Amino acid sequence: MTDLRFPRPPRHDAAEALRGEVRAFLADALASRRPVSRAESWNGFDRDFSRRLGQQGWLGMTWPKRYGGHERSAFERYVVVEETLAAGAPVAAHWIADRQSGPSLLKYGTEAQKEVILPGIAAGETVFCIGMSEPGSGSDLAATRTRAVPVDGGWRVTGTKLWTTGAHHADYMILFCRTSGGVESRQAGTSQLLVDLKATDGITIRPIIDLAGQHHFNEVHFEDAFIPADALIGSEGAGWEQVMSELAFERSGPERFLSSMQLLIELIGVLQGADSEAAQLAIGRLTAHLITLRRLSRGVATMLEAGENPNTHAAIVKDLGATFEQEIADIARTLVDTAPGNTATSDFLAVLGHNLVNAPSFSLRGGTREILRGIIARGLGVR
Ligand SMILES: Cc1cc2nc3c(=O)[nH]c(=O)nc-3n(C[C@H](O)[C@H](O)[C@H](O)COP(=O)(O)OP(=O)(O)OC[C@H]3O[C@@H](n4cnc5c(N)ncnc54)[C@H](O)[C@@H]3O)c2cc1C
Repeated sequence: MTDLRFPRPPRHDAAEALRGEVRAFLADALASRRPVSRAESWNGFDRDFSRRLGQQGWLGMTWPKRYGGHERSAFERYVVVEETLAAGAPVAAHWIADRQSGPSLLKYGTEAQKEVILPGIAAGETVFCIGMSEPGSGSDLAATRTRAVPVDGGWRVTGTKLWTTGAHHADYMILFCRTSGGVESRQAGTSQLLVDLKATDGITIRPIIDLAGQHHFNEVHFEDAFIPADALIGSEGAGWEQVMSELAFERSGPERFLSSMQLLIELIGVLQGADSEAAQLAIGRLTAHLITLRRLSRGVATMLEAGENPNTHAAIVKDLGATFEQEIADIARTLVDTAPGNTATSDFLAVLGHNLVNAPSFSLRGGTREILRGIIARGLGVR
């Protein structure tokens, strides 16, 4: 079995100095935000808030200045992501682009794509969505059927993408599709295309309403949609390697264990002063898990800063993080009497209700538990 270690994050004075600045900004920007809205953080879509983060220089933080970035460290970016999520800021208008679409373009995109697209992301203006999953091709991404047929000047794309978060708001999608071979070719013959959703005919976006009754994800149909040749990201046929790299960006951040943070805060508030050993043990245990996950996640940031591939480490953080995020709702429900006339506050009940209907998705999005454990087993050399 491979020896796997999470490197110790170094002391980073610039990042800690930034933390106070970010907290002060958030305290002001989110002053009127109710706890249940804070619990929605990931799904809170607010272009204005994202623009304000961009103006602060807190998006595209690690990218070169010539593309609108700020050439700061992965640790400083970590502080901004951690503080915005812990405070329950509405991040939906920028987080996909800042976390994975922008870094993918920086790594594989053409010079023109970088020059045109990255400054808009760093300014909090340009919204992205992820075009990976399809009907019959979620975990098994290599079974992708969406096909781009080469034509004069580009491709004609036909197929359906599913569960596409935020497609109804997005300006662009990074589309994973088949550019040669058949479904039996699996990973071979796949590519990534940069699709301008606002300027392309032949694309229909239909809402999917989730368990909570909300519209966050969509079905996106391509019907003979023309995509110009210069929309190719990286090389034709190299889509698999590129999409795996994009998923490593997707799984590596603090967002993988902070989804239930608002519920933990409300739970501690409700149990404050309760003379219950069970409550004290539960809060102590959850807090210890939170601190440990944070240490592991900062270890991933340390690897990113050193230019290392954190694939296995990120899968471990996401798997343990999703388990942690899901168990907070279960523990809260058993510790607090939620019957009418009890001590639970209305904020606690609203946040608990929000978490209970959203928690099942925590171990699906970004890769299911079984798939992550397969990646971990391979990384450890036991599979
Ligand atoms: C909130 C949310 C947001 C999402 N946003 C996006 C998005 O923006 N863009 C996008 O492209 N996708 C998105 N997804 C889709 C997500 O990536 C898929 O749901 C996920 O990859 C699983 O695919 P699936 O739903 O097709 O399930 P399946 O792949 O059909 O899996 C069903 C079950 O079978 C298990 N399973 C599958 N294969 C194996 C195997 N080989 N070994 C063991 N068990 C296996 C899975 O673990 C799972 O439990 C989102 C999903 C959610 C819940």
